[in-house]
Amino acid sequence: MNSKRPIVAIDGPVGAGKSVAARALARELGFSYLNTGAMYRAVALAARAAGVGPDDANVEALLGPVLAAIKIGFDGDKIMLNDRDVSASVGKPEIGDLASRFSALGAVRARMRELQRAAGADGGVVMEGRDIGTAIFPDAEFKFFLDADVKTRAHRRFEELKRKGASITEHEVLEQLIERDRRDRGRELAPLRRADDAMEIDSTNLSIDAVVTAMKAQINARINAAKDLKRA
Ligand code: C5P
Repeated sequence: MNSKRPIVAIDGPVGAGKSVAARALARELGFSYLNTGAMYRAVALAARAAGVGPDDANVEALLGPVLAAIKIGFDGDKIMLNDRDVSASVGKPEIGDLASRFSALGAVRARMRELQRAAGADGGVVMEGRDIGTAIFPDAEFKFFLDADVKTRAHRRFEELKRKGASITEHEVLEQLIERDRRDRGRELAPLRRADDAMEIDSTNLSIDAVVTAMKAQINARINAAKDLKRA
């Protein structure tokens, strides 16, 4: 391990608990936290505002100026798109679905890769998404793949949306989640998959505390092993 602070990559499907675990882990490590799914959601909002749809014939060309000018920022829990607070709209189910469609495009992935690599260049970051350990930071010091049973994930997502006041049934959430999983795992570019060297954690029967504890245990074990090696 070099002197740069490490990068922690957390990938996994919708509802596996990535955001809550990543945020808690970042806080405990004193690292920054980056939710890359929110970035793809911001792209979907920016594209929609520019009148560009994911199925438009020349979608990548139309998106060119939108992506070149895009500014995505985080201010605490707020998500800023081109200096506007879009936190309320970014979490909507239809925006998640739109984000998943736009995220299959090469131009979108290339721009997000550029922004995400810049954000993690100095290390000391917990970054969560679908392709952090495989494509964005394949050399990340720590990689986790968080997963859970599909019904559990749909239930968690449903409860989260209910809290936000969305009118959607649990069955609809399950159907959307299965479709989004299928698209994210099946796409050609940077599909959702576990990196070969990622530690898999099944959160179906685990609390967030237990997930974060498992991650910290893995990180500390590796750091201590490296220290022992140095001393030997
Ligand atoms: O994580 P979240 O559900 O907010 O992500 C929205 C969508 O953005 C995902 O369904 C996925 O298609 C896309 N995404 C991605 N790569 C990432 C993060 C998110 O393709 N690193």
